[in-house]
Amino acid sequence: MKLGTTLYTEQQIAARIAQIGAEIRRDVPVDEPVHVIAVLKGAFVFLADLVRQIPGTVTMDFIAVSSYGAGSKSSGQVRLLKDLDRSIEGRHVIIVEDIVDTGLTLSYLHEILWARAPKSLRTACLLSKPSRRKVAVPVEYTGFSIEDLFVVGYGLDYDEQYRQLPYIGVMDGID
Ligand code: 5GP
Repeated sequence: MKLGTTLYTEQQIAARIAQIGAEIRRDVPVDEPVHVIAVLKGAFVFLADLVRQIPGTVTMDFIAVSSYGAGSKSSGQVRLLKDLDRSIEGRHVIIVEDIVDTGLTLSYLHEILWARAPKSLRTACLLSKPSRRKVAVPVEYTGFSIEDLFVVGYGLDYDEQYRQLPYIGVMDGID
């Protein structure tokens, strides 16, 4: 398999993230902090760009869950690998995900995070593959909806490679 066509350029991604940052602040009162939780590892680039587009006070934390390993298909099993450092009770929380595919990861995160009594809980994902959804889970902010393609770059990997690409590209030769 090899890196194929570019799906979204650096400029397209930046423009969309600026819109999402403004939308998030429209939904959270301007005098209240937005607490952003990035899902490692894939969301680290999206997080870095998104937090710089949210006006007002922003705090952040990181959570890690098991994902695809070296392959490209989800096992359907979600495991917590690294928990948050701080409590989210009473906070306006935004989960920041690289991509929502089956929705299993996000629905697991919803379950464990709602149990911790945040004031609000919303999700921003850079990419979404609606045709692959196995569980219905709300996503308030979506960068781009895409077909059933395996994509890399801008934080997303294939076997830990390609995360550093500034754009989103399609991997060719993956079933
Ligand atoms: P879900 O639990 O929604 O099926 O999967 C979410 C996770 O699967 C994402 O956070 C991401 O790590 C991985 N994933 C899903 N689709 C892709 C893709 O096209 N490319 C890459 N690199 N990872 C993906």
